[in-house]
Amino acid sequence: YQTLRLILGDQLNASHSWFQHQQKDVLYVMMEVAQETDYVRHHRQKVLAFFAAMRNFAKALTSKGFDVHYLRLDDEQNTGSITDNLAALLARYPDAQLQCQLPDEYRLDHQLRSWAGAGNITIEWFDSEHFLTQRNCLDKIFKSDDSLLMETFYRHMRRRLGILMDGDKPLGGKWNFDADNRKKLPKNVTVPEPLCFANDVSDIDTMLSKCGIATLGNARPQRLLWPTSRAQARQLLSYFCQHLLPYFGTYQDAMALPEQHQHAWSLFHSRLSFALNSKMLSPLEVVSNVVEHWQQRSDEIELNQVEGFVRQIIGWREYVRGIYWRFMPNYKNQNQLQHQRDLPAFYWDADTHMNCVRQAVQQSLDYAYAHHIQRLMITGNFALLAGVHPDHVDAWYLGIYIDAIEWVELPNTRGMSQYADGGILATKPYVASANYVHKMSHYCSDCYYQHTQKTGDKACPFNSLYWHFIDRHQQAFAQNQRMSMMYSVWHKKTPSEREQILQQAQHYLDNMNTL
Ligand code: FAD
Repeated sequence: YQTLRLILGDQLNASHSWFQHQQKDVLYVMMEVAQETDYVRHHRQKVLAFFAAMRNFAKALTSKGFDVHYLRLDDEQNTGSITDNLAALLARYPDAQLQCQLPDEYRLDHQLRSWAGAGNITIEWFDSEHFLTQRNCLDKIFKSDDSLLMETFYRHMRRRLGILMDGDKPLGGKWNFDADNRKKLPKNVTVPEPLCFANDVSDIDTMLSKCGIATLGNARPQRLLWPTSRAQARQLLSYFCQHLLPYFGTYQDAMALPEQHQHAWSLFHSRLSFALNSKMLSPLEVVSNVVEHWQQRSDEIELNQVEGFVRQIIGWREYVRGIYWRFMPNYKNQNQLQHQRDLPAFYWDADTHMNCVRQAVQQSLDYAYAHHIQRLMITGNFALLAGVHPDHVDAWYLGIYIDAIEWVELPNTRGMSQYADGGILATKPYVASANYVHKMSHYCSDCYYQHTQKTGDKACPFNSLYWHFIDRHQQAFAQNQRMSMMYSVWHKKTPSEREQILQQAQHYLDNMNTL
């Protein structure tokens, strides 16, 4: 072979120009490697889904006549390291030129570049042809790092792509319909059944056991529900448009109880993140389909539903990637609030009396999935209030979710959710007491704790911990305009009331694993 083309596990982009023409003497290289199964403890469904999707991708390439060298995890020649495996292949084909698509993770980018540098190997780099922006897009859109507002980025993207635009103005006269998108789910609303696949991946599951790969969470390897091929990914997209888009925006932030709502875990969310992050679907394809579908049904589907969705894909998703590449590698070490605690044990087994945390964690263990507000305002909020070290929080999010890849997980967790970047990504910390959880969910009605109480045996821990957070980070936030109201509420309380709340919080912090 004259050329070796590496395809990483999250580069399953069938529309890439690499695959548009048959080329002689090109060998495509794919590998299941221990370095990827082991850099963090992943959810079992995540490893199963990635390997199954990779195998299907390789099969599709082979059937189109491309030559693929696919290393399974248990292949004897597999060293477990991407670069060692590449070195072995280059020894076999010494005249071959190595070509790679730009990795999205700093970790892999660094590994490939330093290996090539040390071994005097030239890598020809190609774009992954997936994203709508370049790695350095923020440098072009913002003049300084002072206020990298997502809203500014999002409007730029809407204009640039001409999505939901009426000339130079946003369709409907507003850029943002967030105010309409914060409804609690009424008890009588029926949630559509989610489209779940039943992929039999038991051969991969057996291999993982044989190779001793440590994973977390629950899995049914004979019925893996995640899409593992482009055809399934397309089906999931079309199912979303048909059944879920009509209420996507309205109930985007809502959280439901499985006892009250069937399919509470999926609600009106698309669950397209795995298909997108593995690149089986492209972001442009997703938003174009959604907008086209809405245009056909615009008499039934309101604009806020589709705008809320478009914002997530062309706004948040591209924006967090920009933040990642703008601030890595330092971003990974940020801990502006100096939080040091361990993650409580209930993040791993859902064994807690706090119903909201129990539901969000149990669902994550069962499905490798939780939606945005569960991630941000339940598990993320609790970890931030309790002062957990962001390294532990990151490792948990990076492992447990089906869609977790560092370029998207890190800015969301360390930045948006834990404020560890000191406010680059969020203008204020996402902290809330039980009041918010009660407003947006049905969790509190069935909880051991009382959401209205701040002190006492049954007081919801979110309440006193919220004020503990406000109190201990006075220096960091007292000048923040968006926090000033909370500080004035705190200071209006009598000293003895404040003391009691702080004591309650301290009691909870000292006994975290029993909450
Ligand atoms: P939907 O609600 O249907 O939204 C549609 C799509 O928008 C998603 O598929 C996703 O591609 C995109 N999107 C929405 N919000 C974001 C966001 N904040 N950042 C980037 N893309 C977004 N998303 C990941 O893909 N991987 C992660 O590892 C990840 N970690 C997160 C950690 C925390 C603490 C938080 C608060 C959020 C995280 N998110 C992550 C963002 C978001 O929660 C998920 O993208 C979403 O829940 C995936 O489910 P869905 O496909 O049903 O999304």
